[in-house]
Amino acid sequence: MAATPEKPAAVTPRRKAGRHRGEGQWAVGHFTPLNGNEQFKKDDDGLNVRTRIETIYSKRGFDSIDPNDLRGRMRWWGLYTQRKPGIDGGKTAILEPEELDDEYFMLRVRIDGGRLTTEQLRVIGEISQEFARGTADLTDRQNVQYHWIRIEDVPEIWRRLEEVGLSTTEACGDTPRVILGSPVAGIAENEIIDGSPAIDEIQRRFIGNPDFSNLPRKFKSAVSGSPQLDVAHEINDIAFVGVNHPEHGPGFDLWVGGGLSTNPKLGVRLGAWVPLDEVPDVYGGVIGIFRDYGYRRLRTRARLKFLVADWGPEKFRQILEDEYLKYELVDGPAPEQPTGTWRDHLGVHKQKDGRFYVGFAPRVGRVDGATLTKIADLAGAHGSGRLRTTAEQKMIVLDVEEAQVESLVAGLEALDLRVTPSPFRRGTMACTGIEFCKLAIVETKARGASLIDELERRIPEFDEPITININGCPNACARIQVADIGLKGQLVLDDNGNQVEGFQVHLGGALGLEAGFGRKVRGLKVTSAELPDYVERVLLRFQEQREAGERFAT
Ligand code: SF4
Repeated sequence: MAATPEKPAAVTPRRKAGRHRGEGQWAVGHFTPLNGNEQFKKDDDGLNVRTRIETIYSKRGFDSIDPNDLRGRMRWWGLYTQRKPGIDGGKTAILEPEELDDEYFMLRVRIDGGRLTTEQLRVIGEISQEFARGTADLTDRQNVQYHWIRIEDVPEIWRRLEEVGLSTTEACGDTPRVILGSPVAGIAENEIIDGSPAIDEIQRRFIGNPDFSNLPRKFKSAVSGSPQLDVAHEINDIAFVGVNHPEHGPGFDLWVGGGLSTNPKLGVRLGAWVPLDEVPDVYGGVIGIFRDYGYRRLRTRARLKFLVADWGPEKFRQILEDEYLKYELVDGPAPEQPTGTWRDHLGVHKQKDGRFYVGFAPRVGRVDGATLTKIADLAGAHGSGRLRTTAEQKMIVLDVEEAQVESLVAGLEALDLRVTPSPFRRGTMACTGIEFCKLAIVETKARGASLIDELERRIPEFDEPITININGCPNACARIQVADIGLKGQLVLDDNGNQVEGFQVHLGGALGLEAGFGRKVRGLKVTSAELPDYVERVLLRFQEQREAGERFAT
């Protein structure tokens, strides 16, 4: 295999290597890999695995795959091995990776800005039906995830995706992941600024670029000019949030260092206003800092949030300006409190061009290839050529003439895709869980779907915005820490002392200007079977005791 360069040209070591181990930052001369992940990334760039998939692995089959590619570099192309069926959550932490690995893959399609044409959606749906046993989940990062993918089929899947301008490049791995964007960018009447051109330019400059394909860990980003604060900017490594500068006009407020998982931190503002055409440069500076100064010794401290926490926003901004941008950023205002209570854009809304967009909700992001194809057909039949995915596992059809809205809504509802969903369907998200995820301890998707149905049946009058986020393990793929009710999957004891699937409960988390992490309710664990009773009790108590205007998180 071709070795990657020792270090990118941009990095000038400031101190002799080897004096102390530090945190493994390249910028201070630590180029000796300090763990297995750093070693395999140094041995060969993750992007190079594509050639081996196309020329060797897809032809010789699963058993021919190099283990460092299988559990490492294949992520650079959106591929993870999925969990062998039938292994219970109690074994997750005990078994070796190869015992958990199935010979099928999860494949993530990146959808930057959540922007899709009807043709792209149709291709996604067809691939699902042909190669993924019909699976196609909408994620809370605007992606689509397939399961049951065979390595033999990957080149053909890539060919079909790329033919319509989609890709799986750096959808996973220690890379610049999908760039979240406002799902109503360019169309919303109340938009501050359309960030789409910046997303396109970031994609062009940085995605699949070997100068940025060996980061300490993943790098999550978001760009939204919507006053609804609709991309969970607080929990991204870098986020650009639309603001109006009193002198310079519309632009973006810069945030860095957010991230959840086991050491959650909210992003911090650098107090800088960034005009649209400088967004890609600033993105380049921040990802450069992460690559060069990011911690590489321990995987658990390798996200940008740890560097930001150690440096603080002033030092971070100074280094960004002095060493990367070579100019001073303009000071700017913070985002304002959003007017709406939901960020998901569901329902029917007028666009700035007089047409309408229609947001709709499946349950917990679970759709399937056949349904996606039907959505594409339905949108096309109602004069729309564009759709968006949201950061809440939902979708939107754009550009619908007023006369077509009623018929489109009826068509979506007939597919069990709710345009005016209950607060429970609207506000519940679930990660992949034990069905396919090797890290999972409990089941999540089916649990979330049945919880929605139960709550709709039991408390049909509930009318408050509520978020219920369900994770299958201590990681935070479904953002449990920032939900009103966050449920972290783990094994718990039932009344008879048996270990069963259940959840640690976190209450009162939120995003937005009142963002904060939910409190872990001491000792409060519920079994999966008890979950509907528990959530019903919490919601009814809130309904009875709330003061006027009080939100769950407050
Ligand atoms: Fe898997 Fe855990 Fe992420 Fe859920 S939260 S998808 S179980 S890693």
